[in-house]
Amino acid sequence: MSTGIEHPDGWLQVKIPLPYSLKWVNAYLLPGPEGWTLIDPGLRTSETERIWTAFMEEAPVSWNRIAKIVLTHHHPDHYGLAGWFRERTGANVWMSETARAAAVRMWGENETYSGEMLEAFREHGLPSELAREMQAHLLGFRERVSPQPEEVRYLEAGKPVAMGGVDWEPVAGEGHAPGHLSFYDRTGKRLICGDQVLPDISPNIGWMPGGDGNPLASYLSSLESMRELDVEAAYPGHRDPFGGFRERVDELLRHHERRLDKIAEGIGDEKISSFDVCERLFGTHLRGNLHNLRFALAETIAHLILLETRGVLARDRGSWQRK
Ligand SMILES: [Zn+2]
Repeated sequence: MSTGIEHPDGWLQVKIPLPYSLKWVNAYLLPGPEGWTLIDPGLRTSETERIWTAFMEEAPVSWNRIAKIVLTHHHPDHYGLAGWFRERTGANVWMSETARAAAVRMWGENETYSGEMLEAFREHGLPSELAREMQAHLLGFRERVSPQPEEVRYLEAGKPVAMGGVDWEPVAGEGHAPGHLSFYDRTGKRLICGDQVLPDISPNIGWMPGGDGNPLASYLSSLESMRELDVEAAYPGHRDPFGGFRERVDELLRHHERRLDKIAEGIGDEKISSFDVCERLFGTHLRGNLHNLRFALAETIAHLILLETRGVLARDRGSWQRK
């Protein structure tokens, strides 16, 4: 096991493997006078536990020198090991209050979220059989985020947080996950992106029940404001650190406009369900990959909702037609 990829100022980037198409999530370790800050430790699996245990034996980091565990958002591939790390280090876990509420809603004791998702997606045309399998698949994530930290400290957008000897400004980003935070170092022109802006792949922007009613509109306006940040080095949640931040933001903006056009072109006067639009766009092979199908359907619905608010489509529950 390597001891991570070292970046300027002694930062360590540790690639934590994921059993999905995303391949890995980046955990970042920032050394500072107060100890190390660990950002987004990854999904909890027996493999990732083994990787971190081996890492701690070799790296210049030790369990009791981890001072803070910081999360950009609540998705299991970022948040999963937060409680596990807290148990071993005693460090406090920091995230936004909204992100914490989302984690409790999805994996808390009296979870009702997966049932709401099943009902909502059925209305959008997902066949019942697939909807039930998807619900079971979603519930399977609970063990990947357990134990969950019992206590969490809250971060707020614009209220600086000390990490690695630098005061970072949490920047709210909408559309990918409720309460998502990126972290900006204005002096060093660095941004820890989380999943808000990624190189090579476009972050999933999906509609889910009980969340943002128009996540793609929120995402696009978040990107418009984030593109004003002066960033020389961007540290994403997936793939590798990159330059050209503003160009990448512009590419993502164009990508969604192209996709909106493509979806709109395929819809005529006949009503079509969100699920049928999704299969036209992404193909029927996703029926064999419920993880990707959930993201694809949520992403399709997010685009359809924005087309409705732009006056292009008319909606009847989970079906759409040209206006
Ligand atoms: Zn995410």
